Amino acid sequence: MSARADPDPQEAPVPSPFAADRLPDGSRRYGHRAVLARRALLAGIVAAGAGTAALTARPGGGERAPAGADPAVHDPVLQAPVAAGGPVEPPPGFSTSDPASPWVVVNKRHPVTPPDFVPPALATVGGKEVAALVAPDLTALLAAAGAEGVRLTLTSGYRSAGHQRAVHERAVRRDGAETAESLSARPGHSEHQTGLAIDFGSAVQPGCAVEDCFGLTDEARWLAERAGAFGFLQRYTARNSPVTGYAPESWHYRWVGADLVARMAERGVSTLEEFFGVTGGPRYA
Ligand SMILES: [Zn+2]
Repeated sequence: MSARADPDPQEAPVPSPFAADRLPDGSRRYGHRAVLARRALLAGIVAAGAGTAALTARPGGGERAPAGADPAVHDPVLQAPVAAGGPVEPPPGFSTSDPASPWVVVNKRHPVTPPDFVPPALATVGGKEVAALVAPDLTALLAAAGAEGVRLTLTSGYRSAGHQRAVHERAVRRDGAETAESLSARPGHSEHQTGLAIDFGSAVQPGCAVEDCFGLTDEARWLAERAGAFGFLQRYTARNSPVTGYAPESWHYRWVGADLVARMAERGVSTLEEFFGVTGGPRYA
């Protein structure tokens, strides 16, 4: 899946509501706006805690469904996302359906709405366009990796609906419709259209771009360990595949902010679907 070869002229980046100043020693110093945004986020997560308890008392999605069962039908999480404590609501101002929200959940049940959505502001990092919200953390991640001799590249960032259509049609021609469905999102169903998703690559092994062998590179290992500290979630794993509806992708990360990554880890969930009680699975709505 190649990125757009000819990026559009860039708009001025908009800072993340959570952005912190980075000090020379790598630590962060939060300004007033960032403190308020984090406080609102944490208050909302705590308020949602009762609702998520029933969801998070169980291990990750891949182990739950009976053998051969369609997890989208039989997994109680996916079947009945509203837990005993009530629906899990993100705090005010943080939507799971607004594609401009850092917490938007895009999957086969929940397309990008509106279908022609374009991020309100794009920035260029590592030669690729991303939502401006992502730029500070992505820039810091690339700098930290580089300082440790880890040679990450960006294979793909923001992809327009039209570009995703071309990617998907190419996958269908190459792999057949059935295989392509698990590997490539239909147009309107890709996180890349939000500008919040990144496909990373390795400058050491460029041939492993968006291939399973990327998972064996030092760059992939570094990401698995460190990306969360910069707010990036590995979105598609072997274990959570029944929940996300996608085959594992060691290169695909989704920016949600470091606070949410930490909260998800505390609750032992690896998917936004489980955390927010949003339906997912391999079938398109
Ligand atoms: Zn991707």
